[in-house]
Amino acid sequence: MAYSINTYSVKKWDLGELFPGSDSPELQAAFDHVEEQVTSFEGVRGKLKADMNTETFLDVVRASEETARIVNKMYAFAELSFAADTQDQNAQSLVGRVQQFVAEIQNRTLFFDLWWKDLDDANAERLMNASGDYRYYLEAIRRFKPHTLSEVEEQAINLKNVTGSNALINLYDSITNRYTFKLQVNGEVKELTRAQLQPYIQGSDPDLRARAYQELYRVYGEDGPVLGQMYQTRARDWHNENILMRKFSSPMSVRNLANDVPDEAVNVLLDVTKKNSKIFQRYFKMKAKHVGIGKLRRYDVYAPVAKSDKAFEFGEAARMVLESFSAFEPRVGELAQRVFDQDHLDSEVRKGKQGGAFCASINPENTPYVLMNYTGRARDVATLAHELGHAIHAMLASHHSTFTFHSSLPLAETASTFGEMMLTEKLLAEETDEAVRRDILFKQMDDAFATILRQIYFAIFERDAHALVQKNASTDELCALYMENLKEEFGDSVELSEEFKWEWVSIPHIYHTPFYVYAYAFGQLLVFSLYQQFKAEGESFKPKYLKILSSGGSEAPEKILAEAGIDIRSSKFWQGGFDVLSRMVDELEKL
Ligand SMILES: [Zn+2]
Repeated sequence: MAYSINTYSVKKWDLGELFPGSDSPELQAAFDHVEEQVTSFEGVRGKLKADMNTETFLDVVRASEETARIVNKMYAFAELSFAADTQDQNAQSLVGRVQQFVAEIQNRTLFFDLWWKDLDDANAERLMNASGDYRYYLEAIRRFKPHTLSEVEEQAINLKNVTGSNALINLYDSITNRYTFKLQVNGEVKELTRAQLQPYIQGSDPDLRARAYQELYRVYGEDGPVLGQMYQTRARDWHNENILMRKFSSPMSVRNLANDVPDEAVNVLLDVTKKNSKIFQRYFKMKAKHVGIGKLRRYDVYAPVAKSDKAFEFGEAARMVLESFSAFEPRVGELAQRVFDQDHLDSEVRKGKQGGAFCASINPENTPYVLMNYTGRARDVATLAHELGHAIHAMLASHHSTFTFHSSLPLAETASTFGEMMLTEKLLAEETDEAVRRDILFKQMDDAFATILRQIYFAIFERDAHALVQKNASTDELCALYMENLKEEFGDSVELSEEFKWEWVSIPHIYHTPFYVYAYAFGQLLVFSLYQQFKAEGESFKPKYLKILSSGGSEAPEKILAEAGIDIRSSKFWQGGFDVLSRMVDELEKL
């Protein structure tokens, strides 16, 4: 298909495929249906025996998948309605209702997981051998055996999470998503959402950039003590549950096990990144010259090097992204197009809508939903490519079960980052203006900074902050820790100012999903390595790459990558990604 600039426009998504509305009979029927299924599932409790036959066992797993499918839809409908309007009271109460419902049914079906973890190895192996695509899912449950508590304890944790950490996170979202920011632009004071403030933060006017950053952290800083307290509570809850009760060795190893990545590999990634912070520091010193100042301020890190605040109409963005995907592989372009054609993309900027961007893959048979806030900057075009990359990843793995189609976190950023690189190549090929081309090349480095160095330093901050909270640190002490972290990250290459001490309270990930952030660096470095292979091997690379994606979450990441010749425990592999970056800085120095 040929795409014109008029093919697609900015829109709100249509959640109708999930449910017609929050008070629809269909949604009520789903609650009733799950209730019936769970009641029937409770009946299998007596059938779970170590020597049970494989067919009976598979029936039990299939029944639980059927329930998971409906629950996933209900959960997604609630969460996506809330994301579309975080101030919508119906959506807020639906999220609460679904979370409560899910916690109750989890508790009623918990006996299966507990029995499964407790089963002897020989019988577990026998049943897994007959389980086909469910195998990795079943293995994954057993991984948590050493950290599993009694049925009653697990049930209590589930219930308390609804009103504890889940409620805390919802509250954090509600508070921070209603923030507005005042910024004087051309003599006029504008009231902006965070998404609307973002273009000024990364815009070409140095004074406006500084004021936008100052306003951002003024607003977060005003609530800083409250947001800091919420973070301390989150970290304490993480420690109480995972270290005290479940006996994990460290706060980060909880995430590593969930990601099924060995602690050793993550530690190597962190160490190698720290060693390579000099590459970015060298880049920032060089960038200062291009921006025309002696030393970059933290405000200038994302500053464009050319005075091009070039705006892209949404239809133009859609055209470029879809064409770049199709050029790589027509099937990939077709899959991305489905997200547009089925109105699964919410691209509009609205007050109360969740900031940032994400892709939600619900079940293998549902085209994923994408949320972003499109304001027309080049960065938004990249975000579109990024989130559609996620959607493609899920769609390529749609032949797997609901339990195994979704890739685990470390591989979750592969298709998204690769999608961005394909788009960049297209942008460079189409752009004739030298200044804009230079801007694109610098942006590539800016993005590498944002996804690699910045995220790894967030992870290091989280590690240190979780430890400090255990020593009863105050919010001020956490702010001081954050400033130390920034100093190490930037060295003497960037001038830091005081208000950045509040940056950490503005990062939703460290509240929502502790230690999520290293997955970005994992994904980006992996993609540099894959992209190198693509450039070297051409067509023969494609099947290998598509195989990684279509594996979804049906194997351990380490195993999926080993098949493509990648060893994630080796520092040499990670260093390879940084060598690509180092060469990119060399190239930029020649400009
Ligand atoms: Zn992503």
